[in-house]
Amino acid sequence: MASSVENIVIIGTGCAGLTAAVYTARANLAPLVLEGAMPGGQLTTTSEVENFPGFPEGVDGFQLMDNLRKQAAKFGTRFEQARVESVDFSARPFKLRTGERELLAKTVIIATGASPRLTGVPGEKELYGGKGVTTCATCDGAFYRNMDVAVIGGGDSACEEALFLTRFARRIYLVHRRDSLRASKIMAGRTTTHPKIQMVWDSVPVEVQGVAAGAVSGLKVRNVKTGVEQVLPVKGVFMAIGHVPNTQPFAQALDVDENGYFRPAAGSQVKTKVPGVYVAGDCADHVYRQAVTAAGMGCQAAIEAERWLAGHGG
Ligand SMILES: Cc1cc2nc3c(=O)[nH]c(=O)nc-3n(C[C@H](O)[C@H](O)[C@H](O)COP(=O)(O)OP(=O)(O)OC[C@H]3O[C@@H](n4cnc5c(N)ncnc54)[C@H](O)[C@@H]3O)c2cc1C
Repeated sequence: MASSVENIVIIGTGCAGLTAAVYTARANLAPLVLEGAMPGGQLTTTSEVENFPGFPEGVDGFQLMDNLRKQAAKFGTRFEQARVESVDFSARPFKLRTGERELLAKTVIIATGASPRLTGVPGEKELYGGKGVTTCATCDGAFYRNMDVAVIGGGDSACEEALFLTRFARRIYLVHRRDSLRASKIMAGRTTTHPKIQMVWDSVPVEVQGVAAGAVSGLKVRNVKTGVEQVLPVKGVFMAIGHVPNTQPFAQALDVDENGYFRPAAGSQVKTKVPGVYVAGDCADHVYRQAVTAAGMGCQAAIEAERWLAGHGG
């Protein structure tokens, strides 16, 4: 059943979606926010955030997102537990289909994030986020000063993560399933010659150890050619095998790049080819993927949506 027409529907409650909610709610637009399967987004999976501006002592990721949600609610944001399954942006008002109903909206901000790929080995899920398994060296590298860590992957991102970690960690094992890196030549060269980085070729992770103690104590890996297993004595495991942008329900209606990330319209970070539909945060940003950059894009999208509504009698 179709509902009345919303001024603005925001899809996602990570840093981007909730920041867009604060701005549009304060502009008296009474935004409706759809939470999806992960209320609060990726940051709720980590315990300590030390690089979000304004928190000199750091802040718990879940707490930060809870604060942001309360801030959005205070100004009149409405929340609904729903996942968007498909959209029709070919005519106005725009149509959004969730499992339960069809929503109509004058403007839409899509802030659905990008999910980090994990390997699925035992121990990984249990020790993810604050317990030693992570997917972000920029976010968590500083917690591993003078410790040994492992990075899993073989592309440019894995090399970037490993090189970034050389600023903090004592030794970095780069575990890759082949005997050469997929990364660009220059990155591969810098990585393999760095004195702190030790390559673990032809190897795949088998188990992250330390579940009983609640903290990573080692990474068991297997050589795919010889079958020999060894335990790397690491305190941190950085998964660098890519992200999956959550853009699938919108991929027919908007432009996406070869990896599925939204491709914004020329000259803007947040506008799309459909006027009145905006994108924000990690779903449209494969470069920075940080809480503060996602929040910044949420702000931009909100201001663009406000302007569009003001110019079209909203
Ligand atoms: C373990 C970990 C630690 C991190 N630590 C830091 C850190 O210390 N500092 C930092 O700056 N960044 C950190 N990050 C990165 C940061 O979490 C992300 O950059 C940020 O969360 C991106 O925000 P976002 O709003 O774009 O997306 P997300 O946080 O991914 O939120 C996406 C939202 O969209 C919703 N959604 C998805 N699909 C649908 C759909 N079809 N319908 C409805 N809703 C949908 C989800 O439920 C979720 O609410 C970390 C990330 C991880 C994984």
